[in-house]
Amino acid sequence: MSVKAVKHEATRVGVLGGGLSGIAYAYFSSRMGFDVTVLEKNSVPGGLMRSIVEEGFTFDIGGSHIIFSKDTDVLSFMLSLLRGNRIENRRNTAILYKGRLVKYPFENGLSDLPFLENLSCLLHFLYARIWRKREPGNLREFFYNSLGSAISEKYLIPYNEKIWKMSIEDMSLGFIGRIPNPKVLDVVKASLGIGSEGYVHQLFFHYPRKGGIQALIESLKSSVQEHVVTGFEAKNAENESGEWVVSNGHVEKVFDRIVSTIPLHDAVRVFNAPRYVKSNVERLRFNSLVTVAIGLEELNVKGLSWLYIPDRNIHPHRVSFPSNFSPENAPEGKSSILAEITVKPDDRLLRTSCDEVASMVIEELDKLKIISKNKVVYRNVFQHKYAYPILDSNYQECMERIRAFFNEIGVELIGRFAEFKYINMDDAIRNVANRLGIHKVSEYA
Ligand SMILES: Cc1cc2nc3c(=O)[nH]c(=O)nc-3n(C[C@H](O)[C@H](O)[C@H](O)COP(=O)(O)OP(=O)(O)OC[C@H]3O[C@@H](n4cnc5c(N)ncnc54)[C@H](O)[C@@H]3O)c2cc1C
Repeated sequence: MSVKAVKHEATRVGVLGGGLSGIAYAYFSSRMGFDVTVLEKNSVPGGLMRSIVEEGFTFDIGGSHIIFSKDTDVLSFMLSLLRGNRIENRRNTAILYKGRLVKYPFENGLSDLPFLENLSCLLHFLYARIWRKREPGNLREFFYNSLGSAISEKYLIPYNEKIWKMSIEDMSLGFIGRIPNPKVLDVVKASLGIGSEGYVHQLFFHYPRKGGIQALIESLKSSVQEHVVTGFEAKNAENESGEWVVSNGHVEKVFDRIVSTIPLHDAVRVFNAPRYVKSNVERLRFNSLVTVAIGLEELNVKGLSWLYIPDRNIHPHRVSFPSNFSPENAPEGKSSILAEITVKPDDRLLRTSCDEVASMVIEELDKLKIISKNKVVYRNVFQHKYAYPILDSNYQECMERIRAFFNEIGVELIGRFAEFKYINMDDAIRNVANRLGIHKVSEYA
């Protein structure tokens, strides 16, 4: 069913940021009849969902992205945006543990461990489940309570500390929604080597056949092309007699209403927020991301989707295999790997030359026998300052004050780093739809 536009011409809406949230806002609101303009600082929209195509290889440079969701309405919307340009894959993911490939999630791969370690994981898991302790106060207690000390110490704690770059005790329970809570029978079966699957809503996932994850953005953008201004970095936004004037230092654009999807750390400067708001934003912590794209002149025989690497001595925490998501992601007979490294925003790695980072990662993956370094035919490195918001104990209190300020000046905040929430693409689309009062997004496909 298509949706008829009702004209809201009087309202000129300026959307700062052309990642998924900004482009989706333009897509829905223009169909509702609003006069909307997206201002994106980069020459290409997409934000974290940008993909590049070089030398026949396609990489999602903001880290490996796949399409999955428990929200069937949003999932159906995303799939219909791709029309025929999509592939369905079954997850084949492993954890690299002491040189072995252990099926993901770890608790569903216990039989891949040496016998005594498998037994220890099972017994500690059962002990934890039978004698569940008091309510957990932090993530370590939650892991111990729900999966037992052995699974926690072998995988969950080192992996989470590696990706989040903080001690497990400092991680709030806000992370829990994302952590699988397996059934006892499934873990017993896994220990006995009887196949069982965890985290099942992501077991089958979709991916664009051509164009990488940015194909989703391109499809949304195609119907709002004339509403998207690229190469426009919002540097200042001021309300002058009821109108918002947004400037990039050279050009001014005037709007009646502003939606900001740009990171809060930038937004406080753009909106000239008072010092107390800026200091609350400074207290919000986040991690940056470095991705290393590698093309290989041989087929990847492992057929893996992702490999998780909890070992702290190796830089990447995860590598994905884009050419296994779609054969179009690599030239025929070749394959590709994308390594992801989270870092603190002031990490030395962000100041290290791309060449050095690529060489270091290739060397590490070669030592682990994930690739052969002499088969590398393409390499590139990308940096993303804002990748993972950290929901620590300051977070709620700071966000209340920040939200109150933006509410007061009448600026709507939407998006991963504008709301400072750990949201996926489905959440981003749902959030935009909710703000616009849209219930069934698939009607807008
Ligand atoms: C490593 C990683 C893997 C992920 N994997 C998945 C996955 O598999 N599946 C899934 O569903 N989701 C995944 N996600 C989440 C997904 O990427 C996000 O939910 C989504 O991209 C958020 O879009 P956004 O528009 O809110 O933010 P962003 O993509 O950050 O967009 C913000 C935009 O604002 C622009 N901007 C910033 N400052 C200015 C300024 N001053 N003026 C103008 N423009 C500005 C930026 O250039 C950017 O384009 C993943 C995220 C990461 C980091």
